[in-house]
Amino acid sequence: MQAVQAQVLTHYRSELVERIRAGGGVLSAGELTVKLAKEFGFCYGVERAIDRAYAAKKHFSEVSPQTPIYLLGEIIHNPEVNDQIRNMGIQIISPKPTDAELENLKSGDAVIIPAFGTEVGTRKKIEAKGCVIVDTTCGDVMSVWKRVRQYSKENVTSIIHGKAKHEETKATTSQARAYGSGHYLVVFTLAETDYLCNYILNGGNKSEFLDKFKGAHSDGFDPDVHLKAVGVANQTTMLRGETMEVQNRIKNAMSQKFGATEIDKHFRFFDTICGATQDRQDALEKLFNDPLNLLIVIGGYNSSNTSHLAEMGEAKLPTYFIKNAAMMESDKMIRHWNQHTLKEVETLDWLPPGKITVGITAGASCPNNLIEDAIRRLFQLRGVSVQELLAN
Ligand code: SF4
Repeated sequence: MQAVQAQVLTHYRSELVERIRAGGGVLSAGELTVKLAKEFGFCYGVERAIDRAYAAKKHFSEVSPQTPIYLLGEIIHNPEVNDQIRNMGIQIISPKPTDAELENLKSGDAVIIPAFGTEVGTRKKIEAKGCVIVDTTCGDVMSVWKRVRQYSKENVTSIIHGKAKHEETKATTSQARAYGSGHYLVVFTLAETDYLCNYILNGGNKSEFLDKFKGAHSDGFDPDVHLKAVGVANQTTMLRGETMEVQNRIKNAMSQKFGATEIDKHFRFFDTICGATQDRQDALEKLFNDPLNLLIVIGGYNSSNTSHLAEMGEAKLPTYFIKNAAMMESDKMIRHWNQHTLKEVETLDWLPPGKITVGITAGASCPNNLIEDAIRRLFQLRGVSVQELLAN
């Protein structure tokens, strides 16, 4: 790990970002001021996953150069980082390998599990092939698994606040089934939570319920049977406020249904939002105390924690969620991700003239070099040269 850290740094570090950070997170030139959130970008889990992938590459190149190295899906949710991993000769296969991909794996091949983990069944299949597993699963994700396994052991249904299709949540739900007897249900929105609470309190149409949560519940899940004791956990990268609301609403419903004195037998909760996600949300909240004209959020469009930072921004001021600096085509047009329609959209006249302050933050999977590119581009659009910027 230590031997590859210098290489990782050359790929992803940014001197400019470090200088701005050391200077209190503010950079001004001409009529533009850029303010960085105090916490942004790579988290400890992502850094560790990348270091491990690079270390695996170095190790196998030295001791057994013929050994193929595979990665299940994406190491983290950032296209540039995944391209870099691919360019190093690591082969990317499906997060849940197809039969053909499994067939292709040989004993001794290396398989990297990404930062958000993998499903129990997938891991077992790879182990059965005799592959060497390089596990980069973040410790914070494993804490959620531990909690969910505990619920499962105690016949408590896991209610997971998260995105059912996200790799981390898929891995987590598979843990709820690790002992064979557990059940799970994934809720994403408050509207889904309210629907669930109403069912807990008043019952309802079972097939409508199962249809509504299609793809988000365990096989054999029966809402009339499996909602008598529930434990809430969450995907590590959700919005803290929303997760608290989800657990409060479910707790209230269980309390009304079974009585406040019996609540401990019917309801559990464990906050599993990771420290890095929380720190980035808190830092952005603090940044909102400064007068900002707009906010740029940088990160992969499939990154859950980044999308929540963008959501926080949208509630306060004009916010543009971009994957890289090239999205800022000109001062008249920006392309950015609309997470509600799941499409890249264009906004005209996005960069106001005159004296302005732009807030910047980035998700836990966004490297500093991409943040630097975005800062440089902003100043360039305001006619400030890179040399001028660095001379500041
Ligand atoms: S965002 Fe949190 S859970 Fe995900 S890798 Fe980073 S520290 Fe781990």
